[in-house]
Amino acid sequence: EALLSVQGVSKTYPDPHSKGEFQALSNASIDVMPGECVGLIGPSGCGKSTLARIIARLEKADQGSVTFCGQTVAADKKLSLEAKRNLRKTWLGMQMIFQNPEASFSPSMSIGDGIREGLVYQEGYDRKSAKKRVSELLEAVGLPASYASKRCFELSGGECQRAAIARAIIASPRLLICDEPTSALDVTVQARIMELLKELRKETNTAFLFITHNMPLMSEFCTRAYTMRAGTIEAELISDSK
Ligand code: ADP
Ligand code: ADP
Repeated sequence: EALLSVQGVSKTYPDPHSKGEFQALSNASIDVMPGECVGLIGPSGCGKSTLARIIARLEKADQGSVTFCGQTVAADKKLSLEAKRNLRKTWLGMQMIFQNPEASFSPSMSIGDGIREGLVYQEGYDRKSAKKRVSELLEAVGLPASYASKRCFELSGGECQRAAIARAIIASPRLLICDEPTSALDVTVQARIMELLKELRKETNTAFLFITHNMPLMSEFCTRAYTMRAGTIEAELISDSK
């Protein structure tokens, strides 16, 4: 069974130029199996980020469905508090890192508090053990534990992206959506972040939806990939398993 299933998703935005509508996504479908690393590549403006944001529930689709771990969210459903809590817990298993690392952190919050937000809905963490977990994760992504008290704007881009990865993986996600995770970083920093993501892949069974412009990077990292054009997911680009 697919871990993530996107079926026929469409999305229009108001078009400021024509006063009409602009179709950012039209009937886009994509599946990710558990532990799989699926790439998505396409020209700027073709709808990749829109699709990522819809999958991560940062935005709503006009049409179509997104199912994760067998659960679909229906906005109009009246749910009990307990059911909502369980649903949130499932969806916490999907995390995202953005092109701009600062997008993962509120500027008013310390890195440590930001990372700790990922522990909400996880059992067995009091203040002290949560703090310890944050230190462990900072070290795992190659940052000193003392960075917990810093704000993201005090960090370099590469450091902040490391912290964003720590924020995403504290919830032990089953799926990590990476939207151009290294394109705002310089080349050496980019390579280090990719090493970190590769390590994560090796050590856990995290599945990836990996969005990038960088074809060599994608063929190195992904086991399957799709091209996207004008709001539609087109050809399957890589289909061999590594
Ligand atoms: P990509 O990630 O492939 O570069 P995006 O998903 O960011 O593409 O954007 C797809 C199209 O939708 C672009 O033409 C963009 O201008 C438009 N778009 C994205 N977000 C919005 C928004 N919030 N309001 C209006 N138009 C948007
Ligand atoms: P708000 O307090 O505005 O409702 P959120 O709790 O949604 O903000 O998110 C707080 C910050 O975390 C935001 O800056 C947002 O971009 C970032 N964020 C939200 N969801 C994720 C995610 N799945 N992975 C990483 N960062 C996220």
